[in-house]
Amino acid sequence: MSKPALQEIILKGINASPGICIGKAYLVDKEGVDVVEKYYIKKKKLQAEVKRFKAAVKRARDEFQSIIENRPEELERDYILETHIALLKDKMLYGRTVETIQTEAVNAEWALKKIVSGLIMTFEKMGDAYLKERASDVVHVSDCIMRNLVGATTENIAAIDKRVILVANDLSPAETSQINLARIMGFITNRGGKTSHTGIVAQALEIPAVVGLETATIEIKSDDLIIVDGNTGIVIIHPSEQTLVEYEERKINYEEYKAVITRESHLSAETTDGVRLEVMANIELPEEIVSVKNYGGDGIGLYRTEFQYMNRQDFPNEEELFGKYREVVELMTPKPVTIRTLDINGDKAVANQSDFNETNPALGLRAIRYCLRKPDVFKTQLRAILRAAAFGRVRILFPMIAAYFEICEAIKALDEAAESLEKDGLPYKREIDIGIMVEVPSAVVLADLLADKADFFSIGTNDLIQYALAIDRGNRNVAHLYQPLDPAVLRLIKRVADVSREKGLEVFMCGEMAASAQHMPLLLGLGMDELSMNPQSIPQAKRVIRALKRSDAQMFAREALKKKTARGVFEMIQDTYGDILSELEYR
Ligand code: PEP
Ligand code: MG
Repeated sequence: MSKPALQEIILKGINASPGICIGKAYLVDKEGVDVVEKYYIKKKKLQAEVKRFKAAVKRARDEFQSIIENRPEELERDYILETHIALLKDKMLYGRTVETIQTEAVNAEWALKKIVSGLIMTFEKMGDAYLKERASDVVHVSDCIMRNLVGATTENIAAIDKRVILVANDLSPAETSQINLARIMGFITNRGGKTSHTGIVAQALEIPAVVGLETATIEIKSDDLIIVDGNTGIVIIHPSEQTLVEYEERKINYEEYKAVITRESHLSAETTDGVRLEVMANIELPEEIVSVKNYGGDGIGLYRTEFQYMNRQDFPNEEELFGKYREVVELMTPKPVTIRTLDINGDKAVANQSDFNETNPALGLRAIRYCLRKPDVFKTQLRAILRAAAFGRVRILFPMIAAYFEICEAIKALDEAAESLEKDGLPYKREIDIGIMVEVPSAVVLADLLADKADFFSIGTNDLIQYALAIDRGNRNVAHLYQPLDPAVLRLIKRVADVSREKGLEVFMCGEMAASAQHMPLLLGLGMDELSMNPQSIPQAKRVIRALKRSDAQMFAREALKKKTARGVFEMIQDTYGDILSELEYR
């Protein structure tokens, strides 16, 4: 009698790294150190206990160091493990654990557990996805110390000798860095989010990964057949014959597509009639530069700087900011890096600001409004940007400009920052291009006035659509109305492009709208000089641009602007460019 077919199960998680793999699951059964005993240490033995803790930290450090030395070349510049080494010596973790052992006269395991739980709670309370990920860095580091304290063994990922897909509750960056590409086809985890370092590592290694599945380790057993679709975030357990055939085909299509894309990604985005568009990357972390380079980005079109502010109770100081900016600028040089000044509040709340409880944060004290109200915070960042500018090609971008006086005040603050650096005798560069983010409708109306104050405009469609169509960008109930192709949005973009041409400014777009292949003919026709998007979308955007002719796209845009609805515009794109797009686009 044949075995009954196992029921196909579909799990939905977060697509952390693109690609498709099909294979046997390998459950990484990490033996966590869950139960920690508490016992008291006699006064005269306290020093020895501290020494035992320090030895465990040193072993953890040696482990990280040896992984760093043996990690694949693709990961050499990701710095995550270097960050972990720095965390090992962090005052909050290391210093306070030593202090707890001494003041409470308790064993090292207990002291470490107490300090780490406190740190995690602080992170978790902040309720921000990015911060939760940073909490996981603390967990990975402390797990490593704890294992060394209790003498537990670790799952040796490097020693896996079959071709498998890893299934884990969570994988630390140290573990992902040991992945043997000849063996591991991909991985999936219960934990993790969009900004997790683990996802970034998977992208650098170019293996499919889905994170945030919550129940993967419960639903999947070792040796189960699974499909991982890192493009959509879908994982299928016990796939049926039909599903397998479908995914084998998708996998082949994707691999063919990727091979072509990779070959072409370093070609420039030049239209068939010789017009070159710059295709740049949006980043949030220096670690993403690996992807930007792999995907052939012409530079950084938007470096969102707010994350460095969200990771803490206090504000980062100038040296910290300068260090990060300089790293990005040096890694990208001679390509340009567009550093956007702080865009906090709105949808990116800062945890340490209890005085900013606003009922309508999207219309509140966010971005440039916040910076102008907090001159010290602003000046610290401006000085760091100007100092980093001495190391490469930096452009500065001011977010949420809604009024003429705002850009005047922002530039005044920039000049003051430059003067103070001059006085302090620190190297800096003031002659950098100044950009205005056009993301509030009033900035479009005032574009002719604002143009006199800037070198370029960068259209932030994520917010521009929200404010122009009165649709909260995070509200599911109205998500169907959030239409980049709405004629109102297109007219706003056209006005910014027209004013830029008249006034001799360059015009860029860095909102999500710029990442879609479908929008390329319109954006080219409307006259964008540069598009900036998530790194993975760059190769496709370049590819589509190379197949277009600007003069045709201009004619097309003129006709599209006569349409009365987003659907009308969409249908026109399909009718005119549907064939080209379906040939070039991966779906
Ligand atoms: C935008 O608003 O389009 C944009 C790029 O900025 P953010 O998504 O960070 O608000
Ligand atoms: Mg915005």
